Amino acid sequence: MIPTNQKHKTTILVTGGAGYIGSNAVLALERKGYKVVILDNLVYGHRDIVTTVLQAKLWVGDINDRSLLAKLFKTYNIAAVIHFAAYAYVGESVTNPEKYYRNNVVGTINLLDAMLTAGVKNFVFSSTCATYGIPKTMPIAETHPQNPINAYGTSKLTVEKILHDYNQAYDLKSVIFRYFNAAGADPTGILGEDHIPETHLIPLVLLTALGRRDYIKIFGTDYPTADGTCVRDYIHVSDLADAHILGLEYLLQGGNTATFNLGNGHGFSVKEVIETVQLVTGIKIPRLEAPRRPGDPPILVGSSRLVKKILDWQPQYSDLSQIITHAWNWHQKRHQNTHKNKIEEFVTS
Ligand code: UDP
Repeated sequence: MIPTNQKHKTTILVTGGAGYIGSNAVLALERKGYKVVILDNLVYGHRDIVTTVLQAKLWVGDINDRSLLAKLFKTYNIAAVIHFAAYAYVGESVTNPEKYYRNNVVGTINLLDAMLTAGVKNFVFSSTCATYGIPKTMPIAETHPQNPINAYGTSKLTVEKILHDYNQAYDLKSVIFRYFNAAGADPTGILGEDHIPETHLIPLVLLTALGRRDYIKIFGTDYPTADGTCVRDYIHVSDLADAHILGLEYLLQGGNTATFNLGNGHGFSVKEVIETVQLVTGIKIPRLEAPRRPGDPPILVGSSRLVKKILDWQPQYSDLSQIITHAWNWHQKRHQNTHKNKIEEFVTS
């Protein structure tokens, strides 16, 4: 609960606020005293998280519902929008791109239209390192060429371009964050990652530790990396959430449209993640070596120098074992009484 004396009147609309990163950002906003309205269609978001952990008003609906958007902007005096709502399964985006372009691109245009009609001109946007495609240099800086290799990455890059055009034409200001691999949970254990279906490495390894899966599949052991497995940049979700507050405040203080990577700056291989989970949990993780997953670049590590410099972002949790400890605490609690059965594998492509 936020002490009432810390509350102020600024209202922020958070789309996708019932999802993993969105809910952690809402928590960070509420801790800072912002008033939050969430718009979430609950396709992947969790109603119980909003009702039990957050204070925000929840509007259940879709960003493709233009009349709902108009009503929402009429109901509240919204100062800025933080836009998380998106589909984000890479494999599915390849087999069903229409779903990704309709939701991630058309839906975002609808949202921007509603904002402009209401005169709201501050926008924080969740983009992704998937817009870079196969990187040519490492660590990846914001100036690296963007050549996405799947419809998910293209949908996000398209919105980035739209935002630059809207800045020029309509003076709509954006902060665009290109995330690397969001991971971990709120350090207090009240919020964390719970995707259905789950495809991400850290939660899958933790579900294996909990006995809900028989083994973790290692997708590819013949990559040109130190131990042959893919290397990723895991960033703590609370650090990610804090960056959104900084981006928001930068815009509210009159900042210009800007784009920032959000990563940890350190790469960890799939095997290192599994080893770290074993150390944190004390549980041996059964593993199965499997073929490469299509579309996985061998190494993705981002440079976050720019966001540190411009927004004075100071991440608190860059240590992988700390990230995994927070995720483990959350997973144990979240799965105490639910999903007792083994979790089926989700085929992503
Ligand atoms: N990965 C894996 N087994 C799994 C899930 C993921 O080996 O069951 C690997 C995946 O190939 C990638 C890394 O773990 O190299 C991180 O994958 P994740 O899906 O968590 O995030 P992505 O990097 O694809 O956004």
